[in-house]
Amino acid sequence: MTANVRFGWTRWARLTVALVNTTPNDRHGDLLTEPDQLRALLLAHDEPEPVTIDTVDLADARDARAALTAVFAAVGNERTIAGRLNDLLARTARPRLTGHDGVPLHLHVDAPGSTWGGWLAAVGAMGLALLVAEHGAEVLARCPATGCGHAVLRYGPGPARRFCDATCASRTRVAAHRAARRSGPAG
Ligand SMILES: [Zn+2]
Repeated sequence: MTANVRFGWTRWARLTVALVNTTPNDRHGDLLTEPDQLRALLLAHDEPEPVTIDTVDLADARDARAALTAVFAAVGNERTIAGRLNDLLARTARPRLTGHDGVPLHLHVDAPGSTWGGWLAAVGAMGLALLVAEHGAEVLARCPATGCGHAVLRYGPGPARRFCDATCASRTRVAAHRAARRSGPAG
């Protein structure tokens, strides 16, 4: 059902990971410095038009990114993860059922009148909290590839995903292969 795609918390969690992974690392610079970058991120995660972003939205989205990145920085420490998510929920979330013109009842989680950044903080905290409640705190992970550290969600069918993308998986495999050759028999 499309309503689930548009309003479901799985989508919020994926959007949150994409937001967190705009943070600069050794692989790329800061990918959230322009309003257009935030607009593209939202549209890429099925946010329906109109999506109009101003500099206040961008500033609030960067604050949301910092708070959600801090949650992933606590990977491995369940108590800290819960504490940071609870703080963010208390500050930003106000869940309520809403139905309007032609759209079935769905959940709005941000406070009325929030900027896009406020909405990102609220749906991010809610999406991650629901995932943790369903799968355990281990669902939140970070890419182990050297110089990456991107946020990764580990859930769903099949082997738990370790790396953020195919590039990190293959460069880690190549590095391991080289290391094995170096330490193996000369020849
Ligand atoms: Zn990675």
